Amino acid sequence: MGFDPAELDGELLVDEASRQAYATDLGNITTNTPCAVLLPRSAQDVAAMIRFCRAHGISVSVRGRASTTFGQSLSDGLVIDSRTLDRVYSLGPGTAEVDAGVLWKDLITAAYEHSPRLTPPAITAYTSLSVGGTLSVGGLGGLVGALHTGLQGDHVRELEVVTGTGDIERCSADHRADLFEAVLGGLGQCGVITKAVLDLVPAKERARTYVLGYTDNAAFFRDLRTLIERPCIDHVYATLQPPGAESTHQLYATVLHDPAEPPDDAAAAGGLTATPAVEDSSYLDYVFTIDRFVDLMRDTAQWGGLAKPWYDVWLPGNAMEDYVTEVHPTLTERDLGPCGISLIYPQRRATMSRPHPARPEPDGSPWVYVLDINTTAESRTPDPEYVDEMLARNDRWFARARDHYGAVLYPIGAVRFTAEDWRAHFGDAWPALNEAKKRYDPDRILSPGPGIFPHG
Ligand SMILES: Cc1cc2nc3c(=O)[nH]c(=O)nc-3n(C[C@H](O)[C@H](O)[C@H](O)COP(=O)(O)OP(=O)(O)OC[C@H]3O[C@@H](n4cnc5c(N)ncnc54)[C@H](O)[C@@H]3O)c2cc1C
Repeated sequence: MGFDPAELDGELLVDEASRQAYATDLGNITTNTPCAVLLPRSAQDVAAMIRFCRAHGISVSVRGRASTTFGQSLSDGLVIDSRTLDRVYSLGPGTAEVDAGVLWKDLITAAYEHSPRLTPPAITAYTSLSVGGTLSVGGLGGLVGALHTGLQGDHVRELEVVTGTGDIERCSADHRADLFEAVLGGLGQCGVITKAVLDLVPAKERARTYVLGYTDNAAFFRDLRTLIERPCIDHVYATLQPPGAESTHQLYATVLHDPAEPPDDAAAAGGLTATPAVEDSSYLDYVFTIDRFVDLMRDTAQWGGLAKPWYDVWLPGNAMEDYVTEVHPTLTERDLGPCGISLIYPQRRATMSRPHPARPEPDGSPWVYVLDINTTAESRTPDPEYVDEMLARNDRWFARARDHYGAVLYPIGAVRFTAEDWRAHFGDAWPALNEAKKRYDPDRILSPGPGIFPHG
């Protein structure tokens, strides 16, 4: 099959420096140098290159910002960098139509500037992530959502997808639902998302956050469970520090509000074990809290280049306290590293409507939790022994969490999975994903990184 790069709206890069620039991801653990990089300007570019790669048996991966940490977005064939798909086509009143390479922070800013002010209903903790990238993993509302809304994937009306056969399809819950469900939370296995129509909701102007510190696990969980059930609370997350820290467990509970209707502090944060500190901010300052933190680490600690053997799992609601009771006392400074962080996110199970991402079996609790132990290395100097040690730790942690607590991987981090592990991971959703793969990527060229559908 002949192909002329001059016919592309975008650019095809094949020089050594460009290819090397796409050889790893934020995790700095896995390397895989592509033979070419596409900076597409249209879905037609993506389709043309996928057809060419299919005809020549070349694998294709798409990357948003490569913020997954274990080679999920890498390929030795073609890497499609979605950052050049960066247009916002329409905004408001109830939806936005955007290219998949748009960063959430840019959509959030544009939606907030709209009159009346709007916002996505679920916002990840860090917002310099692409729309296509978070929709492909799930998109847990780390700073907005979680208690009352679903994941970002639950707030998609329609997608434009280029399949592994090079066809450009529109899909939704009502039209080509098999493709729609296979790509949301589907780690790029059945198609490249090129556009998304996303829900928007009215935005509040202010955020009041109650910050509570603990050294006692039981007291922490008592207050956590109380807070997530309080109707006036919009969001709750928590951080863990290794034993010995002044405050080993920290809770953050936020009420979003307009200035004319300030929160009732007693109703929001009264009657708890710990006494809260109160932090007031504008809505946007609140939403960009982690972005500021990450920017600081990038500037001062070369965070982007550090190895990040991250461990991220979903836990059933009834198992979470027992799991943290077991794991927390074993957590060391080395398990986090100088720029690492451990986070807990409660998510109301009933708000999650899509088959993916995989989550724990129902256990009678209305809640599921994500636990992140986002480890970073101390220095940029490559240290294979450190990486081996941390990957072995993650394997050990995950096997124990899965076998004894019913944990399920949130596949943004670095846990080694075989094709058999993936099949078990997807569980009841596997047959539909497998069928969609056969239909939309019959030659298995898309997204080899995680190893879900190996060749042969
Ligand atoms: C500091 C930080 C905070 C985070 N906080 C949260 C959080 O609160 N909630 C949460 O859910 N996650 C969080 N994450 C994880 C994040 O959502 C994932 O890493 C996400 O994949 C990042 O988006 P990305 O654009 O970098 O995707 P990439 O890492 O580039 O891609 C992720 C996967 O999706 C595939 N993919 C990418 N774009 C497309 C596309 N257009 N079509 C099809 N497949 C595609 C890739 O091939 C890869 O398999 C956080 C990450 C960081 C670094």
